[in-house]
Amino acid sequence: MDLEKVNNELTGKSAEDILKWAFDTFKDRIVFASSFGAEDVVVIDLISKINPSAKIITIDTGRLPDETYELMEDTRKKYNVELLTYFPDKSEVENLLDEKGYYSFRESLNNRKECCRIRKINPLRRVLKDCDAWITGLRKEQSVTRKDMNIVEEDPVFGVIKVNPILDWSLDDIWKYIKKNGISYNKLHDQNYPSIGCEPCTRAIKDGEDIRAGRWWWESPEQKECGLHAKKGGR
Ligand code: SF4
Repeated sequence: MDLEKVNNELTGKSAEDILKWAFDTFKDRIVFASSFGAEDVVVIDLISKINPSAKIITIDTGRLPDETYELMEDTRKKYNVELLTYFPDKSEVENLLDEKGYYSFRESLNNRKECCRIRKINPLRRVLKDCDAWITGLRKEQSVTRKDMNIVEEDPVFGVIKVNPILDWSLDDIWKYIKKNGISYNKLHDQNYPSIGCEPCTRAIKDGEDIRAGRWWWESPEQKECGLHAKKGGR
């Protein structure tokens, strides 16, 4: 695929048009991986209107907040879409807990990445081994690690194409869409959690803090990725 040509063609197009291009191009070999953040509920709503038979998957890491499960249940009931849940490998989690305890991710960056690898990356790898592409709800504005992304790009982690239909949306665009369309969202967003992941690795932010400041708050901003969205050359 000529990514430069594709990105030139899709630049300035709506999220709907980018999603239509993605489904036309990859047919049933593309999934949307949702973690049910504000961006992801917008993408689910868009997909439900464009391609209700699209496959939407979520990774249940085993450490999610209750509020996320409630939202997943609301979404499952509201939309007539295929929502599939994937768990981490049981033995990998058991070994991790037996060897390093329940909070190893707080002890070092390597331990944190190991937990994210076992609980998030490996299950997603299982999903994507049967796919040619996946859709994300990433936005450039979210962090320093995402500002150089393209609408369509190679994914060096999973060896497939990654499509980012709302890459240029602002946070304001997201919330306007949610309110206008009456979409269910994670209740933690109303308690100053702009970005929500696993419960022990997410906290509310203070006024004026960066929107990703509540994720792995003990790490520096350049390190705040779970490994799902690494760039070529590593990060
Ligand atoms: Fe583990 Fe935290 Fe990563 Fe969740 S976010 S997989 S609990 S390190």
